[in-house]
Amino acid sequence: MRAYTYIEPGRFEWREKPKPELRDSHDAIVRITLSSICTSDLHIKHGHVPRAIPGITVGHEMVGIIESVGPEVVSVAPGDRVTVNVETFCGKCFFCRHGYVNNCEAPDGGWVLGCRIDGGQAPYVRVPYADTGLTPIPETVSDEQALFVGDILSTGFWAARISEITPDDTVLIIGAGPTGICTLLCTMLKNPRRIIVCEKSLERAEFVRNHYPEVLVTTPDDCTDFVLANSDHGGADVVLEVAGGDDTFHLAWKCARPNAIVTIVALYDKPQILPLPDMYGKNLVFKTGGVDGCDCAEILRLIETGKIDTTPLITHRFSLENLEEAYRVFESREEGIIKVAIKGE
Ligand SMILES: [Zn+2]
Ligand SMILES: [Zn+2]
Repeated sequence: MRAYTYIEPGRFEWREKPKPELRDSHDAIVRITLSSICTSDLHIKHGHVPRAIPGITVGHEMVGIIESVGPEVVSVAPGDRVTVNVETFCGKCFFCRHGYVNNCEAPDGGWVLGCRIDGGQAPYVRVPYADTGLTPIPETVSDEQALFVGDILSTGFWAARISEITPDDTVLIIGAGPTGICTLLCTMLKNPRRIIVCEKSLERAEFVRNHYPEVLVTTPDDCTDFVLANSDHGGADVVLEVAGGDDTFHLAWKCARPNAIVTIVALYDKPQILPLPDMYGKNLVFKTGGVDGCDCAEILRLIETGKIDTTPLITHRFSLENLEEAYRVFESREEGIIKVAIKGE
């Protein structure tokens, strides 16, 4: 089969590889019916993910149908339509038992799919720990509705979950890219008093205004004043930093009120400065990424009952054959693109 492969920093190419086979009794082989491209794929492409192993098939956002499972897999079976979790985790180690599955200590635990082992920009993928890494999709939920459950929607759900949002809060979300919008959707489920989204792209700001008219929208330049004018205690009660830009970490803690929670969802290309003398007395609580992707079943229930809908994020559709064109468009951010959906073979 043809698999889209990380060759070296700066280069992804198609490579001919054998169809994956079961290697461990907890594995499953999934035929991919729909996949997407994540900004993390671009981070790998540009050499910003040192853990990524050259030669692996990239891609970690996908849904599909199970072809086969190892003898010890109990919760899913061949024929099941499933979401594939970005993180594979054993479910048994110290970190898994506490819900910190991102830090799973098992050999293929954490984010390895499409990073350290072959991922899903191919017709088939082998998923380790299938019992925890695959979640059956309810019959009434389409592949497109479920496409982001395992990765960016898990990230948004986790970010909103750990940020201790209450109904009295003013929540500031910095960044309205795909993960920012998923974070917004999950924040909306907590019904805070106000949500402010800060986004520099006019097109993306417009997307938020059009789809979520109850959300206040500002720009990085106006953000500090806007938050001050639209919050009750001199800043946001909760800040979720999803942009990962050059100045957005600084903006995040600046816009927070004293004793606020600042959750860093973003993955930065460069180290960030934590100017402790300047923030002394603000008594901030920082929470940092990455995602503990262990809530897929709950997220799928929320989609099934109409409480979350990420389908407006799918702005462009391609076939697997045209994956390179999908990358080009996604990377260039042209034509109002937010996310692509790539149909399997
Ligand atoms: Zn991702
Ligand atoms: Zn574990």
